Amino acid sequence: MSIKRIGVLTSGGDAPGMNAAIRAVVRSGIYRGFQVYGIKKGYEGLLKGDMFEMNLRSVSDIMSRGGTILQTARSKDFATPEGVKRAARMAEVFQLDAIVVIGGDGSFRGARALAREGVNVIGIPATIDNDIGSTDYTIGFDTALNTVKDAIDKIKDTAYSHERCSVVEVMGRDAGYIALHCAIADGAEACILPEKKFDIDKDIIQPIIGCRNRGKHHYIVIIAEGVGGTMEIADQIKSITGISTTTTILGHLQRGGSPTVRDRVAASLMAVKATECLEAGERNKIIAEKNDRYISIDIEEALEMEKHIDESMIETSKMLSL
Ligand code: ATP
Repeated sequence: MSIKRIGVLTSGGDAPGMNAAIRAVVRSGIYRGFQVYGIKKGYEGLLKGDMFEMNLRSVSDIMSRGGTILQTARSKDFATPEGVKRAARMAEVFQLDAIVVIGGDGSFRGARALAREGVNVIGIPATIDNDIGSTDYTIGFDTALNTVKDAIDKIKDTAYSHERCSVVEVMGRDAGYIALHCAIADGAEACILPEKKFDIDKDIIQPIIGCRNRGKHHYIVIIAEGVGGTMEIADQIKSITGISTTTTILGHLQRGGSPTVRDRVAASLMAVKATECLEAGERNKIIAEKNDRYISIDIEEALEMEKHIDESMIETSKMLSL
């Protein structure tokens, strides 16, 4: 069946570059002769039929903006068998031949549920966490890394002046990719990830004291939010080492900001690949970046794929902070 009309939505946590992806879905979709409907607030908007036809100018001047012009949601109503059925029925009412879902792993599970109800879906990976098994890269990761890097650079300036230990909590509930990349980019003395059990003496106190004895004047400890207890860890560092210790929880500022070139290009190329797949008659796919190429993977297969933190990066981070 050839495609006449598609819907596009953003779902789950917002990520810089989602707008660039929406723009490229709309422009490349229209280029291929599709009508493109923007669905508001993710699956919530699909359930309500809250959607509108977009044109080439609907996506003017959005590329440089963080967030998502379509807005996003974590819909509880959708995430039930009855909700998925209602959403699939609404896709039929609006005669959507396919829905492009821009979001993270949870959003793809929602897309798979829709696919099982007969809706043709295609996923574009966008989450600052870079934690989707089927793809090397997710839209938003690079911008978040640069935001954290800028913040830690500033914290380091003041940490040096006062000879402090700075504990910085970064995003990552289940995945430590932001923490680990920033530990390397910022030369952190210790980095604690949710994927790995840690021992405060071995993984934090010993590196700090070792660095002090080798002549360092300040110390950065990065903790991914999923580890938990950041304040308590900072208290312990202070009480065991006697070093003045501050804590910064970067929080939601990591989700915002104008997307980097990396994110704009990845978003644009993934979205163009998505509409290309739809034009070619592919059904129920996830777009992925693999070895610098963009490919499509069957959604059932994609959701079985796992990603693991690269142990050698952990060792590299430790080696370079000596
Ligand atoms: P992020 O990684 O940035 O948090 P995400 O896409 O993983 O993004 P989630 O909140 O996990 O964010 O998922 C987004 C929405 O997808 C949920 O609110 C829910 O409506 C839907 N969803 C998630 N899992 C399922 C599922 N198993 N079945 C149906 N719908 C789901």
